[in-house]
Amino acid sequence: MNGIKENITRLRAEVPDEITIVAVSKTRSVQEINEAYNAGHRDFGENKVQELLQKSPLLPPDTQWHFIGHLQRNKVKSVVPVVHLIHSLDSISLMEEINKEANKISRTIDCLLQFHIASEETKYGLNFQEAVQLIENKQRNNLVNISIAGVMGMASFTEDTELIRHEFHQLKKIFQLLKSDFFYNDLNFRNISMGMSGDYHIAVSEGSTIIRVGTAIFGDRIYPVK
Ligand SMILES: *Cc1c(COP(=O)(O)O)cnc(C)c1O
Repeated sequence: MNGIKENITRLRAEVPDEITIVAVSKTRSVQEINEAYNAGHRDFGENKVQELLQKSPLLPPDTQWHFIGHLQRNKVKSVVPVVHLIHSLDSISLMEEINKEANKISRTIDCLLQFHIASEETKYGLNFQEAVQLIENKQRNNLVNISIAGVMGMASFTEDTELIRHEFHQLKKIFQLLKSDFFYNDLNFRNISMGMSGDYHIAVSEGSTIIRVGTAIFGDRIYPVK
């Protein structure tokens, strides 16, 4: 295993410049995150609110924090002040809560609509019809403290690369449909967050604009025994 800095440099050289690489720092120490920061990296992803809140004050203020996990409504208030992009908007009630808390602190929070594209049952996410309902609700209620900045999805956990490619292709199609139907003039609706350490090559070739990479930067995750 190379060092964190070398991994970032290699990854950066591998994917086109316009693609954002979110370094998924869940379970990693502040020291490891700092190593990436000192290599010039600024975008980091966390999937647990408590971990995000512990780490974010310990990194420089220009660090951009991406929330990539399932977000509960009662945690929104603490996430909204520190987050750069929420990748996991998956319900109207969550949208209303984010809008409310963002309004209180005069922010507009960028969020991605998380879609269920995997064949597995367990993963969170919207289907197309639910997403349309959410967007129409946002427009009807004029929720201006949230901006829908694109879509996010996770492919199936499988060796079947053709299935993974198909799922990413579906997400890109969903993005294009929503773009033409609802966001034609909205330049902020522009992101497709797809691709992780094991499948980012496929995601990039299917049109990803943001990849979320953990182990390929920081090495294998070791989950502490609780
Ligand atoms: C952990 C995680 C990742 C990164 O996974 P790796 O396989 O370590 O690259 C990406 N996206 C989400 C939503 C995650 O929870």
